[in-house]
Amino acid sequence: MERLTDIHGRNLAYLRVSLTDACNFRCLYCLPDRHPNRQPSGDPFEDQSLSIMEIENLVAGFSRLGFRKIRLTGGEPTLRGDLVDIVRKIALVPAIQTVALTTNGHRLAELAAPLREAGLTAINISLDSLNPRQFARITGSRDFERIHQGIQTALRVGIEHVKVNVLLLRNFISAELDAFFEWVRETPVHVRFIELMQTRDNSPFFHSEYLPGDDLLARLEGHGWAERMRGPLDGPAREFTHPGFAGRLGIISPYSHPFCKECNRLRISSRGKLKLCLFGGGEYSLRHLLQSPDRQEELIQTVFSLMKDKQLSHMLHEGIWGSTRHLAGIGG
Ligand code: SAM
Ligand code: SF4
Repeated sequence: MERLTDIHGRNLAYLRVSLTDACNFRCLYCLPDRHPNRQPSGDPFEDQSLSIMEIENLVAGFSRLGFRKIRLTGGEPTLRGDLVDIVRKIALVPAIQTVALTTNGHRLAELAAPLREAGLTAINISLDSLNPRQFARITGSRDFERIHQGIQTALRVGIEHVKVNVLLLRNFISAELDAFFEWVRETPVHVRFIELMQTRDNSPFFHSEYLPGDDLLARLEGHGWAERMRGPLDGPAREFTHPGFAGRLGIISPYSHPFCKECNRLRISSRGKLKLCLFGGGEYSLRHLLQSPDRQEELIQTVFSLMKDKQLSHMLHEGIWGSTRHLAGIGG
């Protein structure tokens, strides 16, 4: 079994796969201009999202490189009619320990049970507000009740890890924090507050809404929340527990507490391009190597050869976000 290490000595074992860059929501920080996500190039191979066969070959190849965790994301991955089948195929790949999904949750109530049965072990749902009207202002969606129900269903059917992503937005979050704290008192979800990241499309919004996570961190530490040790497959969140609460709280803070030195992940776009860093410039097409299991050796050697290009850190602090127009294009 190989192990993939980059030139900075970081072991990579976590692959995020975008299943589509289409989305039915228009979150203010992500797709603010309601623009179509991508202009068609005219080349059907280039314009179509990865097929289930390509995804299977991709995951099989990366599992031989020591990858143990796969997250399906987007755009909105539940827009794909074959999502449950994709999860089932990935869960059957030997050595894959965690199959995770990030979703806006609008189809979760109907999908939670089949996804779990197919082998999904972890789910992140984006829910920026517990107030339906505020939620609609942020996301452009009136699906709050359905999403809330979907989260309850995910817990009921026994998906192992149910996490909720909440953007820290300066002019929205102060009215929300108490509600989220109360929610996790009884509900066994992990709520993670995420610092807003600047992308090419959201600059004005970023400048008015960015809020560092430091005050929240101080509130957690001052109110008896204890930080958990990180596991090798964990993402960038710092997570906190409290004996009086069923759920957990966490912070993902790319600006105030950068996590790059512990980076353990690579990303694949919905068109099969490898992205070494969410905010790095380079994209390398692997799609031709996904057309047959016979090309696995070439896939592995190509990925090895690219590890010299993985940069040590993003450069968001300098206002550099590489080729990232918005996170719907690559999966956040
Ligand atoms: N549509 C799915 C969803 O919303 O969960 C998956 C894709 S979305 C791009 C993945 C995550 O990225 C979401 O939790 C979203 O809140 C987060 N996100 C999007 N744009 C962001 C930004 N500019 N800064 C920080 N997080 C962002
Ligand atoms: Fe869609 Fe997710 Fe972006 Fe919101 S954050 S617009 S749900 S891709």
